[in-house]
Amino acid sequence: MELFQLSRANDVRDAIAAGAASSGAAEGAQVRFLAGGTTLLDLMKLNVERPGRVIDISRLPLNQVEATADGGVKIGATVRNADLATHPLIRERYAVLSQALLAGASAQLRNMATTGGNLLQRTRCVYFRDTTMPCNKRTPGAGCAAIDGFNRTMAILGVSDACIASNPSDMNVALAALDATIHIEGVKGSRSVPIDAFFLLPGTTPQRETVIEAGDLITHVTLPPQPEGSRSFYLKLRDRASYEFALASAAVVVKVADGRIAHARVALGGVGTKPWHSTEAEAALADAVPDAATFARAADAALAGAQPQSQNGFKIELARRCLVHALTQATRTH
Ligand code: SF4
Repeated sequence: MELFQLSRANDVRDAIAAGAASSGAAEGAQVRFLAGGTTLLDLMKLNVERPGRVIDISRLPLNQVEATADGGVKIGATVRNADLATHPLIRERYAVLSQALLAGASAQLRNMATTGGNLLQRTRCVYFRDTTMPCNKRTPGAGCAAIDGFNRTMAILGVSDACIASNPSDMNVALAALDATIHIEGVKGSRSVPIDAFFLLPGTTPQRETVIEAGDLITHVTLPPQPEGSRSFYLKLRDRASYEFALASAAVVVKVADGRIAHARVALGGVGTKPWHSTEAEAALADAVPDAATFARAADAALAGAQPQSQNGFKIELARRCLVHALTQATRTH
């Protein structure tokens, strides 16, 4: 770990000003906001992240979960994952989010990790974390060791010739299925970004994972009210039962009315370079009878564009089955 300057922000304006003052250096790599630290500190110890300045935002007043006037919910950026998962509003109205959070990491990590930090969670690609190996995400233009290397856990959707790393978050998959909006404060003012637009595909610039720019601070996330009578479910498949990242996961929100699917949202995890919102699966589900044949068609549609590597072709069938099972659970009547 290299030497860095640590300061504490007293309010959001203070944090933005400190971030702006420090962000003039190359691509803003010199400043990082610190909340739970469950990703950032690990990467600093590995010399993958080498900020010159770290701004502690953990005491900003962004740790509330509140109902909104439209029937939705507002989640502060520093709300801890454990607190969010067990909050009554989330458990009652957004069960898929609670389930996804509780499927992630360990109890200790969930007690520290925050909503904003989880959104910015970095990939678990082993080469990204090993500074002796080529990695386009860590060092643009260096090459990708995973494409001809260990790629069993990598993505099969949204990949590029430059990077095939999967997004590791469970929370982000649920947020994608819930049509979340990310609210950001920065030197240019405030903006609100739908979650589908918040995450970027790797393309030729895998070092850019989100629309966050130097000095930007995520302040909160909002979720719209879900359709009356809809049900949701999160299913995560992994190599071991806890403290492990998804090989494939599925977050679904479904409403059935008069024997047909009146509303469906589908997102996949573990298989995409970003939380994978599948509009293709949703189109296959729209106004269909909620049965095994429909769910299989939706799963086929979701995985139609998969581009597996040498070791992760199994993820196609795994993700198919994961989605079919999640849809079955969300629509079961007994
Ligand atoms: Fe780096 Fe992405 Fe290749 Fe992993 S898959 S080595 S993160 S460029």
